Amino acid sequence: MSSNTALITGITGQDGSYLTELLLENGYEVHGLVRRSSTMERSRLKHLYADESVYNKRLFLHYADLDDPTTIRRIVTRVQPTEFYHLAGQSHVGLSFDIPESTCDTTAIGTLRIMEILRDQPQPPRFLHASSREIFGTPTVSPQDESTPVNPNSPYGCAKAFATQMTKIYREAHGLFFCNAICYNHESPRRGENFVTRKVSLAAAKIKAGLQNNLSLGDLDAARDWGYAKDYVRAMWLMLQQDTAGDFVLATGKSHTIRQLLQTAFDHVDLNWQDHVIIDDRFKRPADACQLLGDPEKAHTTLNWQPSVNFAELVQLMVDHDCQAIHASATA
Ligand code: GDP
Repeated sequence: MSSNTALITGITGQDGSYLTELLLENGYEVHGLVRRSSTMERSRLKHLYADESVYNKRLFLHYADLDDPTTIRRIVTRVQPTEFYHLAGQSHVGLSFDIPESTCDTTAIGTLRIMEILRDQPQPPRFLHASSREIFGTPTVSPQDESTPVNPNSPYGCAKAFATQMTKIYREAHGLFFCNAICYNHESPRRGENFVTRKVSLAAAKIKAGLQNNLSLGDLDAARDWGYAKDYVRAMWLMLQQDTAGDFVLATGKSHTIRQLLQTAFDHVDLNWQDHVIIDDRFKRPADACQLLGDPEKAHTTLNWQPSVNFAELVQLMVDHDCQAIHASATA
């Protein structure tokens, strides 16, 4: 076994796949927990499965659901990770209003179950909980930092607030190296297609290729603090390399509107977004947290972490990726 062994929940997701690449590059043995679902989406790890020098040599996958602590315990005991990254969980805010109980079961209690298992290990690993700006709900202060009080206004945010506070409690009461990465929106070409950045980048690419004409969106004045997922997983890894455990806001500290997102994406492919966007009330949110802006000062100074791309570069790389994917499938 190599000296650094990581266990990741949510390994097949956007962040899990980038983190896996980063850890493999740094010589880790990586283990991932995957859900026992028959329609498992694993495309983000496809290139790693295909690499015979990696799959089942330095990268291993194990079936385990977050509501199955017996199996998780067995895997943790067998693998003995030195670092545990907990990225899994139902993360759609809107959906959490429809399925609050299962959201809380996986996101809140699922995290607690993992912490209990780790606490019981003879050598508990360092633990990173991927928390969310949803814990702040509709904040009264802007920007938010590590000391901003939690005030969630969605079942997802409430579940995340529970898991975040528990992570702190385990750190303080049991002296464990447990950390919260309080993540603001982070995007990439691997972002799910129902999130607005990816919806826009895909639409710009498809409209440019003549495959689509219109794009339906909700509130164009809504604003978010959008960063690049690859940068955020680098910060998560840095958090576990510090001398002391702590919580960190991961954000850019800059807010942009959907209108600015559209302008940047469509400009990049020489299109005018006003010719294609249709407002559809179905995509509007009842109460949208417009003051969501993170203060990444602590991550800058303590982790020496800086984002590698700015907002425009992030949007452009997403549009470029979708244009290339469309071109590749057309010529295949
Ligand atoms: P969220 O911040 O986790 O909810 O990430 P999303 O990417 O789903 O939404 C970001 C913002 O885009 C929110 O303020 C939405 O109200 C706004 N938005 C506007 N139109 C759309 C749309 O068509 N789809 C989505 N997902 N969001 C939209």
